[in-house]
Amino acid sequence: MPTLPDCKIDHQGLPGIAKLTYPITEDESDDDFDDIDPTKVIFDSDCENVYIRKVVRSGQTTAGKKKKNSRIFNSYQYCHLCDKKVSNFSQHLLGGKEKTTHMESEVHEIMQKTGKERKRLINLLRYKFNHIHNVKVVDKKKGEILLDRRPTNFFQLCNYGPCPQCYAWVSTALMWKHQKKCNASPSEILPTSTLLTQSAVLSHRIKSVASKALKEEVFNYMQRDEVGNVARNDELILRLGNQWMEKNISNKLKRGRYTSQIMRLTAKLLLHLRKLKPLDKKQEGMRDYLKPTHFDALVEGTLLTAMPDIDDEEELKSPSNAIKLGFDLKRLINIKIGVCIEQKLDEERKEAEDLLALFRIFWGTRVTKLARVLLQERRFNKPKHLPDPDDLKKLNVYLKKRLESLDIEKADDITCESYIEAVEVISAKLCVYNRRRSGEMEAIK
Ligand SMILES: [Zn+2]
Ligand SMILES: [Zn+2]
Repeated sequence: MPTLPDCKIDHQGLPGIAKLTYPITEDESDDDFDDIDPTKVIFDSDCENVYIRKVVRSGQTTAGKKKKNSRIFNSYQYCHLCDKKVSNFSQHLLGGKEKTTHMESEVHEIMQKTGKERKRLINLLRYKFNHIHNVKVVDKKKGEILLDRRPTNFFQLCNYGPCPQCYAWVSTALMWKHQKKCNASPSEILPTSTLLTQSAVLSHRIKSVASKALKEEVFNYMQRDEVGNVARNDELILRLGNQWMEKNISNKLKRGRYTSQIMRLTAKLLLHLRKLKPLDKKQEGMRDYLKPTHFDALVEGTLLTAMPDIDDEEELKSPSNAIKLGFDLKRLINIKIGVCIEQKLDEERKEAEDLLALFRIFWGTRVTKLARVLLQERRFNKPKHLPDPDDLKKLNVYLKKRLESLDIEKADDITCESYIEAVEVISAKLCVYNRRRSGEMEAIK
């Protein structure tokens, strides 16, 4: 982790932590929000009511002596057992009037340990409690976020999230690095995409209800057919949709369409799964199919979904669409793992993790292998649908006629209408000539 640059706030006359103008007493709650001193905090750049406490530095102690380390420890931790913020977490656990409350919980066990192990367990508890607090803040969109390490100048909540193993809130960009020194000492190093998806579920960013953007940009336009209804109502597919909208946040023009495609594709997969392996009616959600026992059905369902009319020999030789759909299935599994961690469903989580391991090892080969079998079965019987040459000819003749009839040789003849007409006809001609995909023209700004 790089050392943090010095914070640019004025330290002159800084009276030290005890006399800060923003005194956080132990029973302070975020309801005292109006009292916060804006110079002592950094607000989330997206949500004006969410903030972190600024890292403060001073060369002197409160008694006026020179300090070795210029950092002032002004961070607070949340004790979930007492529902309040405290400045020294381990001291708080051990002492004072709350000791009995603490000792009736897992703290009791921690205190049996000594040395490094005790320190590690206290850290894990601290992260867990802070996580509970942070999730409340995310839900309320108001209050202080407690990070493991605070940035000095700029804070954007969406760049932070809990480590799915120890719950410490760290920068999402550095989460892969965090794993190496994670206090939960994970047994395997997980890929970043896995970590981030699980983290996003845990921090309530991928919700089980549709976000505003998803409703406005996807649901309003998505067909209300069987597939559309499944996509709108399946818990995991909804969360996946929310995630896609966030992922493509800067691509306003196309994110709705992408997300809708992905959601409909996974909904189609679910419909195939229901046919391939019918379960109890109440358990036919995507979540119920993401289990190692359904791995074969998942492979087959994916092939049927990604290649609805398996007539394309090239596609079957390298079933790239099916393998791609596998990426979204992986996302769905990670979302499920996140949900299980949150709902403390250990058995279901374990199953989902096993499925994820199966995916990593077998997905590519299994999909390719099954595709080959299907290729042999079906290659002879399917008709090929190429565009009718007559249609192509007709289009070309028409475009040529329009081009010839354009009357733009003399400058005087050019009107606004004739200019627009020329642009449209030429764009259409270029699009056909270059064999570009539809939709590319409209994306040009
Ligand atoms: Zn407490
Ligand atoms: Zn961790």
